[in-house]
Amino acid sequence: MTSERNDTIAAVATGTGGAVALIRISGERAVPIGDVLFRNIQGKPLSTQKGYTIHYGTIRDGETVIDEVLVSLFRAPHSYTGEDMIEISCHASDYILRRVMELAIRHGARTARPGEFTLRAFLAGKMDLSQAEAVADVIASDNRAAHDLAFRQMRGGYSDEFGQLREKLVHLVSLLELELDFGEEDVEFADREQLLEILTAVERKITRLISSFALGNSVKNGIPVAIAGAPNVGKSTLLNALLKEDRALVSDIAGTTRDVIEETLNIDGLPFRFIDTAGIRETDDPLESMGIERTYDRIGKAAVVLLVADARDDAEEISALYAGIPLRAEQRLIIVLNKCDRLDAQELASKQATLRERISVPVEWLSAKFETHLDGLLRSLRESVRTDDLDNAGATVVFNARHHEALLHASESLARARQGIEEGLPGDLLSQDIREVLHHLGTITGEITTNDILGSIFSRFCVGK
Ligand code: GDP
Repeated sequence: MTSERNDTIAAVATGTGGAVALIRISGERAVPIGDVLFRNIQGKPLSTQKGYTIHYGTIRDGETVIDEVLVSLFRAPHSYTGEDMIEISCHASDYILRRVMELAIRHGARTARPGEFTLRAFLAGKMDLSQAEAVADVIASDNRAAHDLAFRQMRGGYSDEFGQLREKLVHLVSLLELELDFGEEDVEFADREQLLEILTAVERKITRLISSFALGNSVKNGIPVAIAGAPNVGKSTLLNALLKEDRALVSDIAGTTRDVIEETLNIDGLPFRFIDTAGIRETDDPLESMGIERTYDRIGKAAVVLLVADARDDAEEISALYAGIPLRAEQRLIIVLNKCDRLDAQELASKQATLRERISVPVEWLSAKFETHLDGLLRSLRESVRTDDLDNAGATVVFNARHHEALLHASESLARARQGIEEGLPGDLLSQDIREVLHHLGTITGEITTNDILGSIFSRFCVGK
């Protein structure tokens, strides 16, 4: 990938549809190519112009005018890639875009690979690797929370977290390694206490980041919410009411929701991914048993379980159903009493009170069919997810699996280094473990990287980014 760094690259940077499209050209030949393709209305070639300027004129193939365009000119190093760049805003016709690209290529550019503009930005030191990855995440984000996290990272989350600590660690490692030169003599240049202090500070940050991944991953992929309960209590109707769409199958025959349906709903900027499940009940029907098995599987993977019951069921029964659901400590459960239109207010209040006494989880009541009192459930859902890290704009939240894995490795090496200090291991062994910590942190921001890693990251980008 890096061997072609001197090529001038070109790509359409905008998606399909719309009235205007953008073609980006970056590299040494960007401006000369611009001079061949583009005729400025004032007759001044781009090569005589300063950076950060916009020019109006025509794109021509010889004397044939192809389009009227605006060209933005960027001069190295003050551009996205750090190279000379031009961006041609033209009319978004496939024909025009194809002709402009053909011309650019005829005059010395080649088509950019996916993510190649951002790869160049990274290689030019314009951003670290985690920031470059965040560019793709910003583009892909479809809700406020995901956008917030990606944007924070694009602005340099990890460098802010580890910048100074990293420098201190590098310094201490060099002192540890100096001890080697003195062989048998019992000298300690690196103050072990100070070392332990810094390692503890790094560990604190790493631990916080690792635990933030549960939230980050949820925000990126949707917080999984399983809708569970007996057949016919109104699970599909509830899902439909929540989504205001008729995607799930609603019927009067018990046990019809055999397959799993997933829909995403944004509540207060957070994406919740709803999973409708087959009703839970004893059955001899093999197809239905399979559905029920899958239901438990889905419940196991959910962050929040909505246990839906018919408001007319007795509290005893609902409690038993609740007790039968295996939950892990970090999972949340909300009891939803549906069909409250069938019960008078007094009965409802007393049932709710009995349940609250027996079970210490939120109990909401509503009518899915008539779409009433849904807001209580929405509030409970929002409150079921702890988002302190999200609300704190200064905190980095890990949402990239590659970063999460690197942090786990760093944490293991860190534990070994700490143990080593406590056991009084010699400097060379300590420095090895600390170098590993630095290595794993370095892979996140890209101080340490290989063409393979870069290839796999940037190939997932779109062309033109
Ligand atoms: P599921 O098997 O739990 O998914 O249940 P469905 O959503 O298919 O609903 C079963 C039946 O209950 C349907 O006839 C729904 O119209 C009805 N139903 C669902 N919600 C309500 C409600 O809030 N009030 C009343 N009266 N009927 C409801």
